Amino acid sequence: MSDPTPCIITVAITGSVPTKAANPAVPITIEEQIESTHEAFEAGATLAHCHVRNDDGTTTSSPERFGLLIEGLRRHCPGMIVQVSTGGRSGTGRERGGMLPFRPDMASLSTGSCNFPTRVYENAPELIDWLAAEMLAYDIKPEVEAFDLSMIFKAVEMAREGKIKAPLHVQFVMGVKNAMPVDRETFVFYAQTLKRLAPDATWTGAGIGRDQLTVVRWSLELGGHCRTGLEDNVRLDRNTLAPSNAALVRQVVDLCPEYGRRPATVAEARALLSLPAAA
Ligand code: ZN
Repeated sequence: MSDPTPCIITVAITGSVPTKAANPAVPITIEEQIESTHEAFEAGATLAHCHVRNDDGTTTSSPERFGLLIEGLRRHCPGMIVQVSTGGRSGTGRERGGMLPFRPDMASLSTGSCNFPTRVYENAPELIDWLAAEMLAYDIKPEVEAFDLSMIFKAVEMAREGKIKAPLHVQFVMGVKNAMPVDRETFVFYAQTLKRLAPDATWTGAGIGRDQLTVVRWSLELGGHCRTGLEDNVRLDRNTLAPSNAALVRQVVDLCPEYGRRPATVAEARALLSLPAAA
C-alpha cells in the first residue's frame, strides 16, 4: 500500500473575534501568540494562520506587530509555515495587505464577497487583484479562502491568468453564520470541483464553530488538510473549553490514524505546498 498524503495541520491561533472572556487561553499579545503557536507546533501543527491584536484584545492590521510576530515565530518554531491573514476583520482596503512586505510564507486571499454574522465581507475585484499582485511581488503563496463555490472558480481563473502562481492551495470555509453552512454534500462537491478544474491543487477544510471536528474528519477522509485553533472554535467539545491551541491540534493528531493519515512534518508540509525548504 502506498503511504497516504500526510496531513498539514493549520493552527489558527487567535483570529480577531474570540476574547479572553470567551476562553482565557486565546492568545492576544505577541508574546502570548508566539508561546501558544510554539506549543501547537510541538503538538504537530505545521502551519500557523496569524492575525495580530492590540494588547487590549482589539483588532489591528499593524504591519509592525505582524513583523514582530513573523520574526518571533521564525525564531521559536523553525520551519513552521507562517501565513498572515489579509481578511477584512482587522483593516479595510489596502491596509489589509500592509504586512506583505515582511514576506511571510503565505497569506490568505479571499476571492469573492459574502455575508458574515453581522456585516458584508467585502472583497471587491480591484482589491483582490491588488492583494494577489502584492503576493506575487513578494513571492508569497496565497491560501485562497473559499466561502462559497464561486470563489473556487475565481481562484482557478486567476491562476490561469497568471495572477496567482500555481499550484493553488484553497481552503474550504464552512460554518460562518450567513455564509456557507457545514454541509457534507457541498463539501464533497467543492473537493471534486477543485480536482476537476485544478488537478494539482491542494486544499484544507476549515469548520468554524461547533462543527470544527466534523470538517476535520471529512478532510482527513477525503485526502485534504486540516485546520483547527481558537480562532475558529474555543471548545474541545460541547461542554469543555479548549485549554490551549495545542490541545485542539492534539485532537486532530489523534484522529489521523482513524483515517490512515498522519501529521506532515515541516519538510513534508513545505513540499506539499510547493514552498521552499526552510532556511
Ligand atoms: Zn483568520
